[in-house]
Amino acid sequence: MAEAASDAGADAIVGIGGGKTMDTAKSVAHPAGLPLVIVPTIASTDAPTSAVAVVYTEEGEFHEYRFFGRNPDAVIVDTSVIAGAPVRFLVAGIGDGLSTYFEADASSRTRKETMAGGAPTQAALAIARLCYDTLLEHGLAARLAVEQGAVTPAVEKVVEANTLLSGLGFESGGLGAAHSVHNGLTALEGTHDYWHGEKVAFGLITMLVLEERPAEVLEEVVDFCLKVGLPVSLEDIGVENASREDLEGVAEAACAEGETIHNMPIEIQPAMLVDAMIAADAFGRERRAALEGEASLPAVAN
Ligand SMILES: [Zn+2]
Repeated sequence: MAEAASDAGADAIVGIGGGKTMDTAKSVAHPAGLPLVIVPTIASTDAPTSAVAVVYTEEGEFHEYRFFGRNPDAVIVDTSVIAGAPVRFLVAGIGDGLSTYFEADASSRTRKETMAGGAPTQAALAIARLCYDTLLEHGLAARLAVEQGAVTPAVEKVVEANTLLSGLGFESGGLGAAHSVHNGLTALEGTHDYWHGEKVAFGLITMLVLEERPAEVLEEVVDFCLKVGLPVSLEDIGVENASREDLEGVAEAACAEGETIHNMPIEIQPAMLVDAMIAADAFGRERRAALEGEASLPAVAN
């Protein structure tokens, strides 16, 4: 497609759509040396602002990150378009944005190189924290408004968090275990019907277990996921029958060389990750049962 763009004498590449469209547009514009404008029609990931494209196999398994060293020249988001899309997209984007602060916090402690290059900055960490606080405060209100196709200040804030704050936060703050767990989970076919941010939400819960975060933090994240309709267990991402062997495969893939799990302050072995996923799943199911009957919403994914 890059060749076709050059042959056609294109002046610029404009990517209009979701994550795959945007990453394809990046993969075309940069080799062709053309300016790039990104116009997300959904807010399901923090891909729009970044200089990174994620490549999957035909089967839907994570293959590689592709780094272009240059961000899009412009990102244009119309929240009335976002609010017109199915709400599951927005909720998935909340899942992607929810992990940004915790991953940036972990990698800022190890000062490992970020996706943008160089060590994590304080600015990125502060932006990542604002992303988390915004989602916690306005995520549910935004979901309810978008379900009705309405644009409210909460929707504007959450779209900014999903797109801009999370994008800057992850790229200049660093990724950690949550995204590696996501990448590993793509090895299980059952997860393919679930979206990036949905698997990242479970990856985040796993990461918090690994890190021994205080129970209040784990509860805050899991309860928020339940409230807003994000996955909290293996069942919620289509792999309730995953065997220990399946999870070992996920953990091996998540701990592969080059994975961002190696940005974490502790060295994580695949066996530790298997146990963390099992514990995260149990914690998620337990919180769902505890909150049953309270004002929680069913996962949008179901
Ligand atoms: Zn992501």
